[in-house]
Amino acid sequence: MHGDIGKALPLPAELLAIINNITQPCSVPAKNTRQSEPAVRGDNGKTALKGRLREYIAVRGIAVTKKGGQEWINCPLHDDDSPSMQINASDKYAGILKCHACGASLDVFGLARITAGLPEGRRYFPQAVQEVKAALGMGQ
Ligand SMILES: [Zn+2]
Repeated sequence: MHGDIGKALPLPAELLAIINNITQPCSVPAKNTRQSEPAVRGDNGKTALKGRLREYIAVRGIAVTKKGGQEWINCPLHDDDSPSMQINASDKYAGILKCHACGASLDVFGLARITAGLPEGRRYFPQAVQEVKAALGMGQ
């Protein structure tokens, strides 16, 4: 029963092209400032996006509850009337959601996949990435 969590936001092809271009490495041979943010596994900034999970939750208007000094959201994977999914704040697990009811873990892309109504599977990962970028205003 989570069909109303969100629906896919179809983007015009032009916008998608712009978003795709943004994922390309910067070709400007500026000073080596990019060395301070080394790309992990050449992932085109996806690791940096993971760190913006909390921001994504806020932008998409997902309700956050505080209890026990931690932040929680309703697990989107099942009916959840007392928020069971913890927003991890520790350094080690930052950017990871952990449901204490069903045991599922989600990162920002997993949450975006559900928010955008995409099916499971790696095939839909690029669309989940685009959903995150769109939410964070990175597709403008
Ligand atoms: Zn759950």
